[in-house]
Amino acid sequence: MPADPSDRGDDPRDDPGDQATTVAELRQLVEDFVAERDWSRYHSPKNLAMSIAIEAAELMEHFQWLEPAEAQRAMDDPVKRAAAAEELADVVGYCFAMAGAMGVDLSQAVRAKMLRNHEKYPAAVFRGKPSYERPADENLG
Ligand SMILES: [Mg+2]
Repeated sequence: MPADPSDRGDDPRDDPGDQATTVAELRQLVEDFVAERDWSRYHSPKNLAMSIAIEAAELMEHFQWLEPAEAQRAMDDPVKRAAAAEELADVVGYCFAMAGAMGVDLSQAVRAKMLRNHEKYPAAVFRGKPSYERPADENLG
């Protein structure tokens, strides 16, 4: 267990933010939290996949019934944005735990998937178009 509570990210004033935090550091935060509670026994890939979906639903709940512009404005409200950010953090935390349970290097997985996305959705073809508007004459992955 870390001696300094700020090492666990307890004090947001000490948080270095996205630009100075590694994926490995965040994965370790989640891993330590789980280990300190002996919860890894519950962290099967099945349970974690369900947990990701459940937390995603909790995130969606903050925008349910809002028009797109209302949902955007809601994020200008610090209280609403903080509440939604907590659910986003829950989703990401479970994603880190899932990567651990699967033995997946998340950075490699994201980069590999983005390479496939670049091939599947070339910017020259899809710029300004939703992904479901695939041109009929394009033979893309
Ligand atoms: Mg939650």
